[in-house]
Amino acid sequence: MEGIENLIKELAYPRDIAIFSHRNPDGDALGSTMALKLYFEKMGHTAQIIFPSEFPSIYSFLPKTDDVVIFDFEKERSIDIIEHAEMMFFLDFSSLDRIDKIGELIIDKKVTKVHIDHHIDPEPIANYVLSDTTSSSTSELVFEFLSMIDGNKEMDIDIAKCLMTGLITDTGSFRYSTTSKTFEVASKLMKYDLDLNFIQNKIHNSLSEKQIRILGHALNKRLEIIPEFYTGIITLTRKDYQDFDIQRGDTEGLVNYILMMNNIKLAALITEQPTIVKLSLRSKGDISVQKLARDNFKGGGHKNAAGGHAYAKLESVVNKFKSILPFYIRT
Ligand code: 5GP
Ligand code: MN
Repeated sequence: MEGIENLIKELAYPRDIAIFSHRNPDGDALGSTMALKLYFEKMGHTAQIIFPSEFPSIYSFLPKTDDVVIFDFEKERSIDIIEHAEMMFFLDFSSLDRIDKIGELIIDKKVTKVHIDHHIDPEPIANYVLSDTTSSSTSELVFEFLSMIDGNKEMDIDIAKCLMTGLITDTGSFRYSTTSKTFEVASKLMKYDLDLNFIQNKIHNSLSEKQIRILGHALNKRLEIIPEFYTGIITLTRKDYQDFDIQRGDTEGLVNYILMMNNIKLAALITEQPTIVKLSLRSKGDISVQKLARDNFKGGGHKNAAGGHAYAKLESVVNKFKSILPFYIRT
């Protein structure tokens, strides 16, 4: 990180720090921001996390999740924190549109801004940047950042638990996006006596009956396979959302099931939301869903995991998605 000596100097005194991450926060968003908050608090700073929208309740096993401020629910309080912040940290997102309205509130603020992220095409939104698209997760980068700040002096079991959660969720339990560094960081985190079984059960074996039934319905009734393009699409309609009482977070991980088929290289979950149609995309190997999402659905992400959205009817979005497949998949 360029200029880190100056940042270290700024952190030598107690600061009011605001930490932001993207809408629909996942395990890496929550793990990386909470780790940074806990670490800063141990250093003597005041640190608060603001997310545009709610995080899945499965992550409530992490420490201090009640302290997280959700902009959707607490606008006044969010604005107050933003007004008083002397430093802002942007974690696990590459462009300001990923934090919705918060983006407009912070863009002109003349405070120290720090960007830590692993998404492709980062926007210039900060004075200090630690951006590495080869990194498994923002949590991995936060570990590196803290080691640069003070050699991980304040690391403890709670902070390690948060970072491990980010590592596990963004790598699918170390199945993809890993480098030797990922395992080095994981190894260092394990030195804090983490109960990995407990963490894994919280993350992967915590679905409700409703979520399992949504999964069954989606795979049985809503999955379409397009064999010539090695593609599988799950489409969830507004009626599905009503019939199964699907809430935000209930469809988390659904798209990954499509990729479990051996002849599938591209997976899409296309959902009809109140105002938009959202696409959640996954791929194997050389197919870049990041490009597909960026070029066609105002989105982005990573090569093998990306998302986007469209303001159009569900059916027309699905048709558009099918029509562009020949441009992204060699047959
Ligand atoms: P998911 O499918 O789990 O929602 O998201 C997968 C990846 O794509 C994540 O890294 C996420 O940050 C990114 N992503 C999801 N939706 C969007 C979007 O609308 N815009 C951008 N730029 N990235 C997205
Ligand atoms: Mn991430």
